[in-house]
Amino acid sequence: MAKSSHPNPYFLEAASIDWGTDGVPRADTYGDIYFSQESGIHESRHVFLFHNQLAERWEALDTQQSGRFTIIETGFGTGLNFLLAWQLWQSLAPSNWQLHFISVEKHPLHPADLRRAHAYWPELTHLASILQHNYPPLLPGQHRRMLNSAQVCLDLLFGDALECLPALLDSPSASSSRSQSSPLDRPPCVDAWFLDGFSPASNPDMWHDTLFSCMGALSDTGTTFATFTSAGFVKRGLRGQGFAIEKVTGYGRKREMLRGTFKNQSDADAPKPEYVAVPWHRPSASSAVNSAIVIGAGLAGCSTARALAQRGIKVTVIERNTPASGASGNPQGVLYTKLSPAPGDLNQFTLTSFLYALAHYRERLASGVIDGELCGVLQLTNSKKDAVHFDQLKNLLADQDWLQFLSGDELEKISGISLSGQAFYYPNAGWLAPPSVCNADLDHPNIRLITHCKGVSLSNNENGQWCVLDDEGQIIVDADAVIVANSNDALQFSQTQHLPIKPIRGQLSYLNESDLTQIPQCVICHEGYLAPPVAGKLCIGASFTLRDSNTALRESDHDSNLAQLKAISPNLLKSTASAHDGRASLRCSSSDYLPIVGAAPIVADYAKNYAALGKDARLCIDTAASNYPRLYINIAHGSRGLTSTPVCAELLASYICGEVRPLPRHLCEALSPARFTMRKIIRNQKI
Ligand code: SAM
Repeated sequence: MAKSSHPNPYFLEAASIDWGTDGVPRADTYGDIYFSQESGIHESRHVFLFHNQLAERWEALDTQQSGRFTIIETGFGTGLNFLLAWQLWQSLAPSNWQLHFISVEKHPLHPADLRRAHAYWPELTHLASILQHNYPPLLPGQHRRMLNSAQVCLDLLFGDALECLPALLDSPSASSSRSQSSPLDRPPCVDAWFLDGFSPASNPDMWHDTLFSCMGALSDTGTTFATFTSAGFVKRGLRGQGFAIEKVTGYGRKREMLRGTFKNQSDADAPKPEYVAVPWHRPSASSAVNSAIVIGAGLAGCSTARALAQRGIKVTVIERNTPASGASGNPQGVLYTKLSPAPGDLNQFTLTSFLYALAHYRERLASGVIDGELCGVLQLTNSKKDAVHFDQLKNLLADQDWLQFLSGDELEKISGISLSGQAFYYPNAGWLAPPSVCNADLDHPNIRLITHCKGVSLSNNENGQWCVLDDEGQIIVDADAVIVANSNDALQFSQTQHLPIKPIRGQLSYLNESDLTQIPQCVICHEGYLAPPVAGKLCIGASFTLRDSNTALRESDHDSNLAQLKAISPNLLKSTASAHDGRASLRCSSSDYLPIVGAAPIVADYAKNYAALGKDARLCIDTAASNYPRLYINIAHGSRGLTSTPVCAELLASYICGEVRPLPRHLCEALSPARFTMRKIIRNQKI
């Protein structure tokens, strides 16, 4: 999933399947079958599970430790291989291990075809129904889904394998010296490859050097692969990348297939993946992280603490006040997105994080650990530009069940409020109580919370660990890693004070349900928002004042919140209505409106190492990134923290634990705290 060059950022060609008279699904594009009706399950088990020795390897996993086993597959198709791997994992793997299954699919099946295929395998019904329930919309990009209380992390990469796999990699230095490098100074490592994806004869494009070189870059000693083909060029391509190859008996009438093990000795002249020129966003090499400090207990900090704790890391969260006391303390927050018809990093991140957040919270709401309601979100078009985007997006995103384009009477039918105009409607979104999300995240045996404690500086001790110090220079706590997640207060640390962030004051106004002539049935977003009442109370807002750090309540802000509501529906407020209370807090926003997530850069080193980019921005400089080892940042989520923090927490955890990331490289770069410094270097601006 390299940056798409397609003018429609939502374009994807779904699978076109001919089910024939024999009921066997054939891909029109390739003229090949997905599975054989009588032996599909047995063939998959034989080729992919048996020849990657998964049963033996999973039985031998260390039950004393938590960990993850990573599989990458080319061609998700019906998900049969995935379901069988998951079924085996359930019966053999220790419960403290996670299966990370990453599958690339250029032409995803329509949900109806997926269900039809799954109907062939009654023994997989339960797992198949979980997959169907979590199957992402047919949109290009990386879709992460946690299944069965995170027993499985499924990354579905909808796009061409030859674009998506290179986007998991960073740089030549990250792989060329794998044997000497520390565990985190290299790309994440895959344990097994399922090379599916139709035969080389019917799908020659996919069986390309790029695929083989990515496999080499993502493998480590002991990584295995299996494939149904025995084509000579596949054998030679993988041998060149460092795999020892065996030809073994294929399934049924297929005489031969290939399997192999990575020996870490590639041919010097074997093709290498095309990497980025400058590996700057990648965290610096470091030893394994067993303990971490998260500074700040808002949505960003709590979600990060949770993602790390789930991976077995002992986390101390320090908070100068109490959890969710800043912008994350509002009683109702909206799961919100705003899409653009044009491609771009902000748009792609906005959509990816929104879709991930919907799935993430749905499970948590269902289990009752957080408060809120997925009652739908109606987003009114507010301006001429919005109206143009509405028409364009309607053309680009027809037939999506997560987004509807409504107008006229439909608005009142859905919302219960007299509204006019046009609106985007997100039926699976809604509102959540952010404090309940923070508290639920913190409720984990690996997390310790210290409240009313302000860390004002960071330093390293003689063991290279990070220490957080108070205003008297006393150590509050030390640990292997620190994650700065304290919003605008990140500027107090010398290591992060250069970041271009600004406070945005926002005030909510509280009304009584009886102040309205109609009761909202879903969330309505306009310039502000209105959510359905809870126990007779309503929450409207929020105001938006840039670079204002005062959090005292203001009558003028109440007035403007009420005026905004009148503007969308003139008779909604009774004449006696007035705000009886409210809440003001500060959001934190970056200069390009994307959150700031990743390793903290050592700015002076960047200036030195990458100065030549000021003369030629296309230069390839393979100097390892100059980031503080094990110091990370997660801030600047603006007013969209509920939506953006879940995937960002996963991103940080993937950096810290050396896993395959939940986002393609160009989005990791777009979020990286070093991006501002890199832009200045490239534009020859003063740092
Ligand atoms: N593993 C699948 C299963 O368990 O059902 C079956 C895979 S099917 C035989 C092959 C799949 O590879 C098809 O879904 C096809 O769209 C996909 N494919 C073909 N070329 C591809 C490419 N270049 N990148 C990603 N997927 C591709």
